[in-house]
Amino acid sequence: MKILSINAGSSSLKFSLINMENESVIASGVFERIGIDGHYKIKFNGEKYEEDAKLKTHVDAVNLLLEKLISLNIVKSLDEIEGVGHRVVQGKDVFDKSVIVDDEVMRKLESIKHFAPLHNPANMLGIEAFMKALPNVPNTVVFDTAFHQTMDKETYIYPVPYEWYEKYGIRKYGAHGTSHRYITETMSKILNTDKFKLISCHIGNGASITAVKDGKCVDTSMGFTPLAGVMMGTRSGDIDPSLLPPVMEAENKDINAIINDLNKHSGILGLSGISSDMRDLTEAYNKGDERAILTMHKYARRITDYIAQYYVLLGGADVIVFTAGIGENSFVVRSLVCENLKCLGVEIDDEKNNNCHGEALISTSNSKIKVYVIPTDEELMIARDTLELIKNA
Ligand code: ADP
Repeated sequence: MKILSINAGSSSLKFSLINMENESVIASGVFERIGIDGHYKIKFNGEKYEEDAKLKTHVDAVNLLLEKLISLNIVKSLDEIEGVGHRVVQGKDVFDKSVIVDDEVMRKLESIKHFAPLHNPANMLGIEAFMKALPNVPNTVVFDTAFHQTMDKETYIYPVPYEWYEKYGIRKYGAHGTSHRYITETMSKILNTDKFKLISCHIGNGASITAVKDGKCVDTSMGFTPLAGVMMGTRSGDIDPSLLPPVMEAENKDINAIINDLNKHSGILGLSGISSDMRDLTEAYNKGDERAILTMHKYARRITDYIAQYYVLLGGADVIVFTAGIGENSFVVRSLVCENLKCLGVEIDDEKNNNCHGEALISTSNSKIKVYVIPTDEELMIARDTLELIKNA
């Protein structure tokens, strides 16, 4: 059984073809610069295939992908593909789980697409392209927000005029839900129980922290949009919105330009003035650069703030998990955060923390909270949901 896991952006389409018998990736790649000129990269059997190609629309990208799956001998026939799972960024309170695409689902997606104008319309283009190219293969949608739909109202409501929620749907929706769910399910297998208090730290270029109790999300750090919460590669995370008017006036910027600054020119990049990339920041930090030290410490502090908040909310924690690009690879960030958490009885084994690759327990046997590093796999989660939905259809 082979499933395609798809992540369509406004000018790109990423794919993984997964063999669900052993959950291994058969091939993966990206079709990019769609609508500009066009280029694709495919990884298969340890080889890389890369070429410019005319890609006017997402339909062109999907047709070329299917053509390449055959011509590169990745599949013998397209009939081998039994389902296509699509990542969708925003499901609002309309979708609390993954579903098979039908006319009603497409209508609902259409009705909420303005809530993520940069992402949802692009995700829908991907779905429509596959519906055209493989009309007999079921498509499913897997939402970044769905896992967070178990938050209660006291958690997701903002202390702003209540009418904003009623009239405009202003509330916390969160993001990275597919990753946090993957971490929850993986931890459940490791601990051999569903009953545990987990603080899941997805720390990549984008970053969010989620509090999970007995398998369900109770709070998450991203908000109405992914700009909220901890400091990130280029995003500020939470700030006081009253700081915006004086900057807007001084720099003659409108609200869109200043929100763009908070999304693209803030966080690690803005504060350090060096780079948004943790590897570059770490290099400067190790050399003793003052702004890099300030940025690194602020970064670890913002993550600590949320872990501490969720520790109290959950009434303690059994496990803290670090995942995504920085969480999986930066022993410096993990070490600084865990140092900040010493008062909660967190103790990590430096040897294990400095040398871990892949899944690892990095806390000592004395630690009051277990600390794990778990590589996330959103593509696999999308494929698993797709398989499950097809089986039960
Ligand atoms: P995205 O949100 O784009 O999916 P990723 O999860 O891929 O982001 O994370 C990207 C971040 O991971 C970058 O800041 C990058 O520097 C960081 N990263 C990747 N490898 C390492 C490493 N070996 N050490 C420290 N940071 C790393």
